[in-house]
Amino acid sequence: MVELIGLIYSLVLGAVITSFTNVVGLRVPRKQSIVTPRSHCPSCGHVLSAWELIPVFGYVFLRGKCRGCGGRIAPTYPLFELLGAVGYAYSFWLYGFSLTTLLAFVFLSTLLALAMSDLSTMLVPNVILMFTAPILMLLAYSAGVVWWSPIAGAALGFAVLATVFFVSKGGLGAGDVKLFTVIGLVLGPRDVLVALFLSSLIGAIVGLTLIGLKRMNRKQPIPFVPSIALGTMLTFWFSERFFDWYFDLM
Ligand SMILES: [Zn+2]
Repeated sequence: MVELIGLIYSLVLGAVITSFTNVVGLRVPRKQSIVTPRSHCPSCGHVLSAWELIPVFGYVFLRGKCRGCGGRIAPTYPLFELLGAVGYAYSFWLYGFSLTTLLAFVFLSTLLALAMSDLSTMLVPNVILMFTAPILMLLAYSAGVVWWSPIAGAALGFAVLATVFFVSKGGLGAGDVKLFTVIGLVLGPRDVLVALFLSSLIGAIVGLTLIGLKRMNRKQPIPFVPSIALGTMLTFWFSERFFDWYFDLM
């Protein structure tokens, strides 16, 4: 019973926090305040009332259209809220009432804020990374990782991405290098490489699909952070069990 309440609470909390990180991802890279003005339609300025702000459901009630001007609301917002809700609930399902769950919440929300920022402006704001990195490191230690894991993970994440950054000459942003340094803090040296592998794979599939659907051409830069966010959370949730299973086979 307590577990069920915890699960529902995580689901709601994930949706609410993600509607906040959506605002952070939209406004922080544009150097706007995250408090004022209140959320409004970018086309007509219609200020959203309380019920229109309800995560996911607000969008469904409005049928994806602004009540002021009838303009289309980007489906990315409710999609992210849904992912945040499911991600929080899944983390609670895996780790229960623990500091690992809290680490998963903060990690997922950081990644969602950065993914939204990258989608809306192609930027990975330093301020978000600098604000969350110490919290993530503290939570990783509290959750019981060995002392060298965050240090080695961050160093390796930085070294590998910085090398790719210089070799590819702009195929990768400086933001991606900083982001993988922070990811390394949380995941440690082995899993930061797993996350990089999965993110690149997902990024390649997304890129080829968008080019195939003619939604993008080859020259257009495609935001990479949403793929990194997905690859990283999959690593966070599944890597340990994958390696356990794999070494059991051998
Ligand atoms: Zn409007």
